[in-house]
Amino acid sequence: MNEFHKRTCIRFLPRTSEDGYIQITRSVHGCKSAIGRKGGPQTVNLGDRCTESELPGFAIHELMHTIGFEHEHQRPDRDNYVSINWDNIKPEHRFEFIKKSAGQVNTLGLPYDYGSVMHYPKVVFAIDRHVPVITALKGNPSELGQRAGFSALDVKKMNKLYKCVLPFMSPW
Ligand SMILES: [Zn+2]
Repeated sequence: MNEFHKRTCIRFLPRTSEDGYIQITRSVHGCKSAIGRKGGPQTVNLGDRCTESELPGFAIHELMHTIGFEHEHQRPDRDNYVSINWDNIKPEHRFEFIKKSAGQVNTLGLPYDYGSVMHYPKVVFAIDRHVPVITALKGNPSELGQRAGFSALDVKKMNKLYKCVLPFMSPW
């Protein structure tokens, strides 16, 4: 949350009487969030691995979902940038690789970002962990699916979507 406050105009504030709000839970295994505002209470689950301080990108990833962002590798134009090895994805996770339509995702006129915290890594939900699920098609990026924190483009797209105007006022 501090990272959002430092780099964008998005503010996470304690709930008072708002109808729509997020609840951070640890009730189930894994990192999970709905995408965007659903109305009423909605859960962001941060299981144990999701809050490792060395990899703040796990929690940042879920919080970016909650403010409306889809996975980078599900962008409508992703076939120009990555190939997906469907045969190597565990069936129950295949839906997380389905390409979204241009009507479902606003790419904000910004380029595809291999370095996005919203991108999945090369080997994820794989049946055979020695075989990549996602292969980059352009420029041989050193890593896909980093979870160190925002990429420069992640920051740009949040500020664009939320029409943030610099400089950001600190909430404290
Ligand atoms: Zn996700």
